[in-house]
Amino acid sequence: MVGDDLKTELPTGETVRFAHLDYAASAPCAEAAAQAVAELLPRYGSVHRGTGVRSQTSTVAYEVARDVVAEFVGARPGDQVIFTRNTTDALNLLARALPPSTTTILFEGEHHANLLPWPNQLRLPAPKSADEAINAVENALGGITGPAVVTVTGAGNVTGEVWPIREISDIAHAHDVRVIVDGAQLAPHLPANLDHLGADFLAFSGHKLYAPFGGGVLAGRADWLDAAEPYLYGGGASATVGDRPGDLTWATGPARHEGGTPNLLGAVAIAAVCAALLVADRDALHEHEQRLLTRLRRGLPEGAREVSLFGPDHPRVGIVSLALPGHDPAQVAHRLGREYGIGVRAGQFCAHPLVRRLVNAEKSDTCDAPGAGLLRASWGLGSTEDDVDRFTKALAEILRS
Ligand code: PMP
Repeated sequence: MVGDDLKTELPTGETVRFAHLDYAASAPCAEAAAQAVAELLPRYGSVHRGTGVRSQTSTVAYEVARDVVAEFVGARPGDQVIFTRNTTDALNLLARALPPSTTTILFEGEHHANLLPWPNQLRLPAPKSADEAINAVENALGGITGPAVVTVTGAGNVTGEVWPIREISDIAHAHDVRVIVDGAQLAPHLPANLDHLGADFLAFSGHKLYAPFGGGVLAGRADWLDAAEPYLYGGGASATVGDRPGDLTWATGPARHEGGTPNLLGAVAIAAVCAALLVADRDALHEHEQRLLTRLRRGLPEGAREVSLFGPDHPRVGIVSLALPGHDPAQVAHRLGREYGIGVRAGQFCAHPLVRRLVNAEKSDTCDAPGAGLLRASWGLGSTEDDVDRFTKALAEILRS
């Protein structure tokens, strides 16, 4: 990873390697992404517009990037890959592309990006197990008469738990209902393949997938996307424009929702990481993350409690959120950064309803921390045992003091 050896100075004057345990917010940049961007920069130009070598190179690079991402997400014939700014952008785009009067079935524990954009919501309470999630979707589908869609996270950004997407998709499809997956925390850790997940749409962000150049992806069924109003009106999205207002035809295909000059470097960076992950031993990467999870759990000091919806044995990615009864997670995070050179995150992680629920569940014990919230550590490619050990040791010292 670029910047693996970043150093930071502590108040004691000591200089230490920065331990980045905030991958769930933004992961470091992969060498493959940095290299792809560096290689393109000297030839960089406008996509889809010019005739010179810069523009032609850039157009090819952009469309090749789309093809690589299509392979990464296991796009089926007829699926589209649209480059967006991030997951939030991708899900907002899709929310506006839903057929009229569609009811969106979702759980209250979603990240705000997958909670707020949807019209006509049927919000289900956060489930206590994967089976409960599946049953809740099935029951909800049974009660719906009009068009509906289910949107669900692939892996939660608070608990890291992996959701039963395949099962939910199978049930939804049996009711002729499509499934949208928020893959922001899934794609960096586990294969996020539309076909294997059985999902109809998938969204994810480049900056969490080791490609921090401002890009994101929405992939999935073309029919809704081609029938929808363009996400942004302007050049690229329009095919022909007449003299009078409204006298125009819109493009179909990805261009319809990529109005304006696209983020070429963002797309190329994402594709570089996708290409690297396509040939990587993802089982080995997953096992490494799981080893760090086990190590972190073993090292957790008394007074730090891992929160979960589905219980400790449920599969999860490299994310752990902790309740710290009697302590303010924000202050603890601040001290970890300043006094120990460790970057984590504290608060409610843009999932307020879920964190409120998890914190309240803890409150029934001893949690009286001012400023409700949790402390989150998250890791991925390039994370080390030393990162985890430093975190648990520092946390123990802070909780003792
Ligand atoms: N969904 C999940 C599960 C996330 O973790 C995040 C980012 N924290 C988002 C959506 C939104 O991602 P972005 O900020 O890149 O749009």
